[in-house]
Amino acid sequence: MTDCYCGSGQNYNECCEPYHTASKMAQTAEALMRSRYSAFVLGNESYLLATWDEAKRPLSLGLSGDGIIWQRLNIIRCNKGREIHKQGTVEFKAYYQQDGHDFVLHEISRFKKNQVVWFYVDGAARIIPGLAAKK
Ligand SMILES: [Zn+2]
Repeated sequence: MTDCYCGSGQNYNECCEPYHTASKMAQTAEALMRSRYSAFVLGNESYLLATWDEAKRPLSLGLSGDGIIWQRLNIIRCNKGREIHKQGTVEFKAYYQQDGHDFVLHEISRFKKNQVVWFYVDGAARIIPGLAAKK
């Protein structure tokens, strides 16, 4: 059993894996956000593309050559994005290393729901390098 990559404290097979294997659908924007972070950790590009709003979806992500080692996810706040909503935002910090240097990606992601399926739309992000990334 593996602690889930998203930092929920649950096991991967009870947290993000059911989303990755399409045996479950994310009920909230936060759950989708967490499962997408875990997909980044695992290099699961097909899941990331499948959960991307069609209008904004890139053709590919080129994850295999980016040299990024994801370290942890910190969800800061969610606005809407629950079962009763059709859209929502999730603010998070994702900590990673690239070429031996620390960075944090601080992003407010937008999500929307088509019928019952949540999709990632886009995000306003900034990357903070170096020591500040530890905080
Ligand atoms: Zn998880």
